[in-house]
Amino acid sequence: MSERAALERARDFGEVACGYTLEEAARESERCLFCPDQPCVRGCPVGIDIPGFIQKLGEGDVRAAYDVLTGTTLLPSICGRVCPQETQCEGVCTVGQTLEPVAIGRLERFVGDRAIAEGWSTRAEIEPNPFKVAIVGSGPAGMACAADMAKAGCAVTVFEAFQQPGGVLRYGIPDFRLPNEVVDAEIAKLTGLGITFRCNTVIGRLFTIEQLVREMGFDAVFIGVGAGAPVFTDIPGASLNGVISANELLTRCNLMRAREFPERDTPLGVGRHVAVIGAGNTAMDAMRVSLRLGAEEVLCVYRRSRTEAPARAEELHHAEQEGVTFHWLTDPIEILDDGKRGVRALRCQRMELGEADASGRRRPVAVPGSEIELPCDTVVFAIGTSANPILGQTAKLRLDGRGYIAVDDDLETSIDGVFAGGDIVTGAATVIEAMGAGRRAAAAMKRYLGLAGADQPYTLPGPDSLFGLAPDQHGHARVMLA
Ligand code: FAD
Ligand code: SF4
Ligand code: SF4
Repeated sequence: MSERAALERARDFGEVACGYTLEEAARESERCLFCPDQPCVRGCPVGIDIPGFIQKLGEGDVRAAYDVLTGTTLLPSICGRVCPQETQCEGVCTVGQTLEPVAIGRLERFVGDRAIAEGWSTRAEIEPNPFKVAIVGSGPAGMACAADMAKAGCAVTVFEAFQQPGGVLRYGIPDFRLPNEVVDAEIAKLTGLGITFRCNTVIGRLFTIEQLVREMGFDAVFIGVGAGAPVFTDIPGASLNGVISANELLTRCNLMRAREFPERDTPLGVGRHVAVIGAGNTAMDAMRVSLRLGAEEVLCVYRRSRTEAPARAEELHHAEQEGVTFHWLTDPIEILDDGKRGVRALRCQRMELGEADASGRRRPVAVPGSEIELPCDTVVFAIGTSANPILGQTAKLRLDGRGYIAVDDDLETSIDGVFAGGDIVTGAATVIEAMGAGRRAAAAMKRYLGLAGADQPYTLPGPDSLFGLAPDQHGHARVMLA
C-alpha cells in the first residue's frame, strides 16, 4: 500500500497510508490460499470470516465482501487501520511462514472505505420494543453494544463525558492514522439506527449508575468507559512545568484542536525538544504529534529493547521514518529542573536485558555507572493508563484488585442488569477486543431482557414476531411493557 513521503507527511495531519486501489486489493486477495484450517480466523479476536470476505473481494464483489465482514465487525474501516495485525490475524497467516502474510487489515480497510464512500449499510428492519438501554461511554465497546441493542429494537441512549463521541478513536488516535471522517461515518451509522448521543455528560457526576436504572427508567445499562486515567512514575521532577501525560497531549491536540491554536482556544505547551517515555501505540502517537506540532527533536526513551516495544510494527516503523530518535534500553530516573521550574533534561540509566519476567519479556536490569542526560524541554509520560475511579466511587460496583470493573462470564457486573466491557474490564487492550466485548455484552443483555441473543442473527420480523423474536421464542420473552 502506498504511503506519503516521510518528510512531507511529518509536518501535517493528513493520513500517512493511502489505501489500496480496486486493482491492488484484487491482486492482494489472489495471494490468499483459502486454508481449510483457517488459522487467520482464530488469530482475529472476534473470528471474522477472513477467507470468506477475501473470496468475495477476489470475485470483484466488494459489496458481498462487506456483508461477510459486517456479519462480525461493525468497524472494518477502523480495525483495518489500527488493529495490531502482526500479532493477530496476519501473525498466523499461512502465507506468512514463507512470504509476507496476506495483508488482511489493508483489504478490510479497503472494503470498509468503499462502504463509506458508497453509503452502504447493513441496517436491518427494526421492530421496536419497549426496552430502554443506556450506554455509558462512546468508544468502540459502547458503539458496538449500542448498535446491537438498537438493531434489536431497544431505545438506546449513549452518555459520553467528552463533547464528541468516539472514545480513543476520537481523542487518542490522531488523524494521520485514523481520519476523523472515518470515525464520523461510523457514528453516523449509529445515529441512523436511531441511537441518541448525549455528550458532555459525565456519569458518576451528573447521574449515578443506580439513578439510570432506578430513576431514569433504563432497563439495562452497559458501561464502556475505557481506562483513560494517565499513569506517571514518581521520579524526581515529575511535577515540573513541561511534564505532561500522552493522553492529555493527544486529547488537547486531537479533540480540542490545540494544533489550530490560536484560532482554536486550546493552548498546548509542547516545546522544541520532546522526550517521550514509553514505546506503545500511545507513545508513538505522542511522538509523531509532537513532530507535527513543530518539535525540532523528538526522543523515545524506553527501558527495554525494540523487540519488546508494544507498539504496532507499522507505527514504530513510521515513527523511525519520520525522524524520531530512539533510546532503547534506557530508563529515566530524574527530570532535571532548568532553574525556573521548567524542564532542562531527562537523566537516564542504561539497561541490559536479564531473565524473562511474568509477562514473558526479558526484564531490564540497570548497568551500573551508565547514567546519561538527554537535553529536552518537554517530557511526555506514555507508560500506560488505569481505570478512572469515578464510577467505582459513585456506584455500588464490585471492582477487581486493580480498580477495574469486575464482571461474570456474561460481562454482567455486581449490579443486576448492568453490564461492562472493553478497557474498563480488561485494562488497556485493543479496539477490536473492545468492540468484541461490546457485542458479547449486547448478546447477554438481550438474554437478560428476554430478547433474541446475538448468536441468533437479526432477521426481518415476520407477522407473528414479538420484539424481534420468532413465534417459537415468544416464551423466552420477559415482557416489560411500559
Ligand atoms: P474508550 O475508547 O477509552 O472509550 C471510553 C469512552 O468513555 C471515552 O469516550 C470516555 O470519554 C468515556 N467516558 C469515560 N468515563 C465516562 C463517564 N464517567 N461518563 C461518560 N462517559 C465516560 N488499539 C488498537 O487496537 N490499535 C491502535 O493502534 C491503538 N492505538 C491507541 C492509541 C492511543 C493514544 C490509545 C490511548 C489507545 C490506543 N489503542 C489502540 C487502544 C484502544 O484504543 C482501546 O483499547 C479502545 O479504544 C478501548 O475501547 P473502550 O470502548 O473500552 O474505551
Ligand atoms: Fe485482523 Fe483486526 Fe480485521 Fe480481525 S478485526 S481480521 S484482527 S484486522
Ligand atoms: Fe488466507 Fe492467510 Fe487466512 Fe490462509 S491464513 S486463509 S492464506 S488469509
